[in-house]
Amino acid sequence: MSKIARRKFIQLSAVAAAGVLVQPGREARAEDMPQLSEDDPMASGMKYTHDASTVDPASRANPAADQTCANCALIQGEDGAAWRPCQIFPGKLVNASGWCQVWAPKA
Ligand code: SF4
Repeated sequence: MSKIARRKFIQLSAVAAAGVLVQPGREARAEDMPQLSEDDPMASGMKYTHDASTVDPASRANPAADQTCANCALIQGEDGAAWRPCQIFPGKLVNASGWCQVWAPKA
């Protein structure tokens, strides 16, 4: 590897490492994301609601007694937060008491 190529490699590695170090800050800003609207086309397509208690248990694909976003495997963010990121709706926050038809049990 030439000196120039080595220098470039080291510079790119430093930039990549800095990007990794910035990630925690990005996650903290997730709390500033907008709340998912029930009227959002993707949300309504997934039958998302802010209040899981309004969903008829018989209409659920997984007939668990109590399914909410807070106990879904796809929820992200901090336990206890009222609004949290979800893998299904990137860039938006879902209500911890909500539900959608993609609900999946935590492992
Ligand atoms: Fe809630 Fe899970 Fe649906 Fe996301 S995938 S909206 S956390 S039930």
